[in-house]
Amino acid sequence: MDLNEAKLAGYEKLGETVCKKLNSLGYSAWYVKNKEEALKAALKLIPEGASVGVPGTVTVRQVGLIDELKKRGSKVSVHWDPDLKPEGKAARFLEELSSDWFVTSTNALTADEGVFVNIDGTGNRVGAMAWAPGKLLYIVGINKITTDIPTALKRVRDAATPPNVIRLNGKAPCASVGHCVNCNSTERVCRIVTMMERPPFGRECHVIIVGEELGY
Ligand code: SF4
Repeated sequence: MDLNEAKLAGYEKLGETVCKKLNSLGYSAWYVKNKEEALKAALKLIPEGASVGVPGTVTVRQVGLIDELKKRGSKVSVHWDPDLKPEGKAARFLEELSSDWFVTSTNALTADEGVFVNIDGTGNRVGAMAWAPGKLLYIVGINKITTDIPTALKRVRDAATPPNVIRLNGKAPCASVGHCVNCNSTERVCRIVTMMERPPFGRECHVIIVGEELGY
């Protein structure tokens, strides 16, 4: 086995371990090797004609799901549409939330207890993860898996947030230094921390773990 094959085999072991844990907690979780397989799985899961809400997730865009859903005629709601006027944003947040499916990723997912750890600034993404009335799908790159909650929180602040702030042209200090300084800036994007320990009551939650690095 060469070095790359060994790395991919390690991803598969880790992905399967996490899926087993998640399935024991009430999620429907499975592992796929790459983003092409993730796209196929998501398109199979989401019925044609279903409306889909997608918050500001890099992973879902990298998988190419939004374009494919639009091609087959699904209504896809995104609040980050560059053509959306500021006065339409609040209504779009609600449209995302109330779609038949809410599709996102997670900032981190712990291997030990299967906890989804997220930090949000506006709260729309984490709010919908907990409260969207439709079905939920999480697409999670293998880079998001951490051992436990402390490493998950560290990953979110030091690995996920700085590139996100840079992507959005934010001015929080982590955009300048590349790691978290636990700022008290008015530009701070870390305002709400959520830890989802089980699927919320009454919600159907699907998880696709991808054996590839996706998102931040
Ligand atoms: S607390 Fe401030 S510096 Fe740290 S990741 Fe959040 S926005 Fe960046």
